[in-house]
Amino acid sequence: MLDRILTELTIGGISRKADGKTKERAETLRSQLVGLSGNILTFKTHGWVQRVQLVRLPKWLNRFREGKKKLVDVVSWSIHSDVKVACSCPSMLYGGFAYIASEGGFKVGRDQTRFPKVRNPGLNGSVCKHLVKVLEDLPGLVATVTRLVKRGMKQEEAEPAPKAALRKGRGG
Ligand SMILES: [Zn+2]
Repeated sequence: MLDRILTELTIGGISRKADGKTKERAETLRSQLVGLSGNILTFKTHGWVQRVQLVRLPKWLNRFREGKKKLVDVVSWSIHSDVKVACSCPSMLYGGFAYIASEGGFKVGRDQTRFPKVRNPGLNGSVCKHLVKVLEDLPGLVATVTRLVKRGMKQEEAEPAPKAALRKGRGG
């Protein structure tokens, strides 16, 4: 999905190439991975205005726990798999990208069903410049994401989830 969003996307049976201008604009930005919560990565992009992006990775943790694959390999697989995205910028909403992402099945959160008839009736592009930047940087972040996942697992072990604690209490 990641590569398709950035190069060529098929929505409603129509194949469209990613918008070159948006890609050019994305090059002026700097992206920063700020955290991982569950399977959602949070990014900030720094340009004229700071924006926040979400990238939801597919549910992969069970796949890791059941299988014998290395964590880094599972993280790499998930990053190149069916990611879903969202951005806090106005063009995501008004520029039609929320609609395009909903139609394409890669939007985090509620689907946007209102067709962008004024701002982007031709449905050009796939995501805003911020998400172009984040998605371009994402494959290079496998090691960093793996570290975040490991840290999260350690925290889980240190402070067991309420449910687990409850079960323990009942048993003993
Ligand atoms: Zn954006």
